[in-house]
Amino acid sequence: MSSVVSLLQQLEAERIDTVQLQFTDLMGAVKAVSIPSSRLADVLDRGVNFDGSSVEGFARGEESDMRLVPDLATACRWRSEFGGRALRLICDVVLPDGLPFAGDPRRILARAAARAAAAGAPEMLVSAELEFFLLPQGERLEDAHLRDPARYFDAPSSDFAARCLRLIAEGLSEAGIPATQIHHEAAPHQYEIDLAPLPPVPAADAIITAKLAIRREAARFGFTASFMPKPFTDHPGSGLHLTFAPAGEEAAVSRGASFAAGILEHARGLSAIASPTVNSYKRLGGSEAPGFVGWSDRHPAPYLRAVGSAWEWRAPDASANPYLAIACALAAGSDGIEQAMPLPNRLDERPEIWSEEQRFLRRVAALPETLRDALDALEQDECLQAALGDHAMHHFLEAKRLEWEAYARTVHVWEREQYLTL
Ligand code: GLN
Ligand code: MG
Ligand code: MG
Ligand code: MG
Repeated sequence: MSSVVSLLQQLEAERIDTVQLQFTDLMGAVKAVSIPSSRLADVLDRGVNFDGSSVEGFARGEESDMRLVPDLATACRWRSEFGGRALRLICDVVLPDGLPFAGDPRRILARAAARAAAAGAPEMLVSAELEFFLLPQGERLEDAHLRDPARYFDAPSSDFAARCLRLIAEGLSEAGIPATQIHHEAAPHQYEIDLAPLPPVPAADAIITAKLAIRREAARFGFTASFMPKPFTDHPGSGLHLTFAPAGEEAAVSRGASFAAGILEHARGLSAIASPTVNSYKRLGGSEAPGFVGWSDRHPAPYLRAVGSAWEWRAPDASANPYLAIACALAAGSDGIEQAMPLPNRLDERPEIWSEEQRFLRRVAALPETLRDALDALEQDECLQAALGDHAMHHFLEAKRLEWEAYARTVHVWEREQYLTL
């Protein structure tokens, strides 16, 4: 589907009537505009205009006219909401003068990958493990999770769930991102789908696409697919582990150690990007989600896990914008390479049970415990500031601080249960 002509011919031959143009806002929400296929040739030529000031994190004073430029390499078949067959294209966002928009997350990732290469970082292939719950719609959430007693690696709990997972897998391979593995995760109704390794930008595209396809197929079976980091107090949460595998020769492996050291060094600043919701911090520090910064190849829940020459970053959850998460990890890792950071000692123990003094002596840092602390840590991280750019940094911090304040102001059920009759 590379050249324009063959793409147009394919639309004609396969009677595809609609093209869905997608992009992602700064918070990771997918935006889409549909056009009839007959308009595609014109759109490939001139783009589609939209009002950037109405998109979260895109506002930029008077400069609100923006344009979507479809990336032909992302063309895939798409089941449209209205039935019928559609084509999906992911777009870059440009300003009226044709220059890339600084707040476009896809652009931020492309730039981070180019900078990493210039810093001498090995080319990284990124694979993702998406964990999520399939919750029966129309039931109270508290009851919904009780009907599936299955645990880690159990066979699907019902034919119904098995059929849903099969259609999800079909949807993914139709979109050009075949799953490498699907299994039941540790909590009731919790599953994991693993995506094959890809270069950074296609890897983030694949995560966005997979979440859409999983939600869409789940809804057809009456399930809500939830990527919420920690939906249930008493069950494990859902992560989005990202594995960075250096492509190529031996030398890449030693630089890979400095890459990992850079990620560890910037872990606190990375937190707001990898774990960007209030709820993210209820996942971290329990049920195999990391609470402390360290690496291991044997600990069950390290921050970074060494897997051969690859590094599995286990902090992120799927509320993260994958473009920004991968961009910031690449920036942190390249900083490690540029400064030739040595890998700290392996951490196989559980710092949870140590005293503060022991942690200090062993130089083991805790991850931020709230979104607010994470935002403060991000604001102080100059390397990540440079990766995101002033525009994205400013708008991200502003939107997330409002989110934190809204949460902090709200009186929660727990408080009433605890204090109403005090
Ligand atoms: N669900 C765990 C998390 O939130 C991971 C469990 C696993 O894959 N070992 O990160
Ligand atoms: Mg896994
Ligand atoms: Mg898992
Ligand atoms: Mg994993």
